[in-house]
Amino acid sequence: MDNPDFIIVGAGSAGCVMAERLSASGRHKVLVLEAGGDDRRFYIQMPLGYGKTFFDPKVNWMYRAEPDPGLAGNVDHWPRGRVLGGSSSINAMVWIRGARADFDDWRAAGNPGWGADEMCTAFREIECAVIGDDAQRGRSGPLNLFVPDKTVHPLTLKWFEAAQTLGLPFNPDFNGADQEGVGLFEFTIHKGRRLSAARAFLRPAMKRPNLRVIKGAQVTGLSFDGTRVTGVSYRRGGRTVEIKAGREVILSGGAVNSPQLLQVSGIGPAAHLTDLGIKVRLDNTNVGRNLEDHVGFNYTYRAKCKTLNQDLRPWWGKVRAGLQYLLTRGGPLSVSLNQAGGFFRTGPAQDRPNIQLYFQALSTVLPRPGERPILSPDPWPGFSIGCSNCRPKSRGEIMIRSSDPREAPRISPNALSHEDDVRELLETGKFIRKMAATSPLADFIESEILPGPKVIDDEAMIEDLRRRSGTVYHPVGTCRMGPDPAAAVVDPRLRVHGVGGLRVVDCSVFPNIVTGNTNAAAIATAWRASELVLEDAGQVAS
Ligand SMILES: Cc1cc2nc3c(=O)[nH]c(=O)nc-3n(C[C@H](O)[C@H](O)[C@H](O)COP(=O)(O)OP(=O)(O)OC[C@H]3O[C@@H](n4cnc5c(N)ncnc54)[C@H](O)[C@@H]3O)c2cc1C
Repeated sequence: MDNPDFIIVGAGSAGCVMAERLSASGRHKVLVLEAGGDDRRFYIQMPLGYGKTFFDPKVNWMYRAEPDPGLAGNVDHWPRGRVLGGSSSINAMVWIRGARADFDDWRAAGNPGWGADEMCTAFREIECAVIGDDAQRGRSGPLNLFVPDKTVHPLTLKWFEAAQTLGLPFNPDFNGADQEGVGLFEFTIHKGRRLSAARAFLRPAMKRPNLRVIKGAQVTGLSFDGTRVTGVSYRRGGRTVEIKAGREVILSGGAVNSPQLLQVSGIGPAAHLTDLGIKVRLDNTNVGRNLEDHVGFNYTYRAKCKTLNQDLRPWWGKVRAGLQYLLTRGGPLSVSLNQAGGFFRTGPAQDRPNIQLYFQALSTVLPRPGERPILSPDPWPGFSIGCSNCRPKSRGEIMIRSSDPREAPRISPNALSHEDDVRELLETGKFIRKMAATSPLADFIESEILPGPKVIDDEAMIEDLRRRSGTVYHPVGTCRMGPDPAAAVVDPRLRVHGVGGLRVVDCSVFPNIVTGNTNAAAIATAWRASELVLEDAGQVAS
């Protein structure tokens, strides 16, 4: 495509939405450059295939974080999608909008148009949901949502009962007005297949003559005319190509790659860029900083009843599940493992839930090295109750190591470096044990396997949670939005402060992380952003 109006870097959750929205009117030529390849692969389309894509470099950037003192020095695996659909093609498909108050925090941080009401409007336009109140939920958007109400494992219902006994109510819709309680998650799954952002937004739009998607094209730098970005250069098949954008370049590379691309292009902390021999275009110390991520861990139990371990561990169980999936698009491979979960507050001082819970009728304490644990169910019946924090106070950063855009940046999560983050996970561990000790769940438990009966006092529990916690893959905030260039990277219209012709639209712009998984908020951010881009181009979004 010659002379595109918009160049979108990255066809992930946000990039796919941008491509669809900006090309819808036919008035703008839109070019999408995606470093990865095609998403029409079996293990992407089959929902439980995310166990396989987790360590597959063909579709995954496979980042490694720095050894993290807060995580007992562990080196965490940081998967990120490198394929059409981005991380929405390899994620666990849980659809959680976030708390309404999270978006009101975005607005209160000086970002008009990003509050709960505006984001609710965006979510309603995006969703095709089958549960909840009409006033809250969308019924005819492009993104079909699935609730596993017919396939959920019966032990899950016992967990719901135990939680209710402890005062945590059943919540029929985590994406309604209130998140608190336990219940079934909604999933980006449609007719037994993953509904990634590529499938929901990009593929239908690819039929348009004014949209072109180039796969295998890794953008390596931005081109400038003074302080205005005029285009990008990318590498494909060993060649470097330069291309100009008539209107704007939109970075949708995600929370790791968008700050990396800004930094290698000379936008970032000047001292660091100078040290690496990079010409500084704009000094902004926030690029790559303010990294927020959720971390979590599991409590695992040996059960007295059959769990998914017996269905998915033996070879004949795998064959049966595979055939069931191929013939009916149903069965355990057609849905995520964490079918249910919840949100709760560790104390009355919290104005909204600060912990997310996950229930999985499967245990994986004996993972094979190099394989995702979910691929190795234990030989005995087992299940897990997992948790992750919702609004951690710890902050990390992402900084390039060299001027070479192909070298992975240094990821320093700095997880659990704030004492409050440790305390709330400790309280959560105690609460999970309380649930496990409550009937009727208690009646189905033979023993606690992890952390086990020796881990009792606070000191031992903290040592355990640091050792066993890890990212739950929700990094955000590394190009955060805000009105003040001294404290943010993009303004409330997502234009990079101090530079023309350039926006960032993806998870990296979140001013604060949301209460729950981040894909929905990434998609809604792009939906809102497309309205701003079209408005600035003199067009009202259709
Ligand atoms: C294993 C895993 C499980 C998860 N589970 C869930 C879940 O169940 N529910 C949920 O809500 N969230 C989940 N998440 C998080 C969620 O998927 C992400 O927050 C969301 O997809 C991020 O969207 P994004 O648009 O910011 O970035 P991405 O979707 O990661 O998209 C970035 C895209 O840009 C491309 N790109 C990057 N750099 C370049 C470059 N230089 N040139 C060209 N292309 C480039 C990438 O290849 C990628 O396609 C999970 C994530 C992972 C990794």
